[in-house]
Amino acid sequence: MIDTHRHKGLRQKLVNELKTKGITDHRILQAFKDIPRHYFLEKTFADWAYKDVAFPIDADQTISQPYTVAMQTTLLDVQKSDKILEIGTGSGFQACVIYHMGAKIYTIERQKKLFDKTETLLHNMGFGNVRTLYGDGFEGAPRFAPFDKIIVTAGAAEIPLKLLDQLKPNGIMVIPYGAGSTQMMLKITKNIDGTLQKEEFGQYRFVPFLKGVNA
Ligand code: SAH
Repeated sequence: MIDTHRHKGLRQKLVNELKTKGITDHRILQAFKDIPRHYFLEKTFADWAYKDVAFPIDADQTISQPYTVAMQTTLLDVQKSDKILEIGTGSGFQACVIYHMGAKIYTIERQKKLFDKTETLLHNMGFGNVRTLYGDGFEGAPRFAPFDKIIVTAGAAEIPLKLLDQLKPNGIMVIPYGAGSTQMMLKITKNIDGTLQKEEFGQYRFVPFLKGVNA
């Protein structure tokens, strides 16, 4: 794995593109500037890492489009003191962005092959403090609950109640929701009294949030 001046230049261009698309949080932009996103793709496709598109990774899954990662991270309102749960580790990039912003991050993946590969990559990149968990995201991570924030990075046909249960009062869950080919990005805030407040942030296209694990 090498990170050249050319890669750094491509990253700066991507950061500028995200800015023109409305991403303003400088900590998110700094993460995109610092993290070598090409490490998360197969070597032959390295340059695709710096285009604002989603891209296939192992096990028929995708690394989310940079804008989508930046947008979901914005909605999550990441604070340094936060304990955050991600559902759908995939390449691991989103988890690294959150970690880079100083929060504590746990991330769950249901595809064993992808889980093993990403765990090794994160370790080799010095992101070993991102806590990777193999399992079914519908169950959440009860051992480490409750969480300040939960981010779901797969398209959910239903909103898992167990995840809402693992959210602290005043907690935020960002989840792409919908049974069709596109999903509405929802920000769900859990009020102190346990009631939920939902806000909508436009249509996105994610791979499906599936039940159970794939060994
Ligand atoms: N956040 C990722 C993008 C993930 S794509 C990144 O930054 O690259 C969505 C991922 O969710 C896929 O890897 C898929 O296998 C995973 N997934 C789908 N259903 C799941 C479930 N029930 N539990 C855990 N992971 C799940």
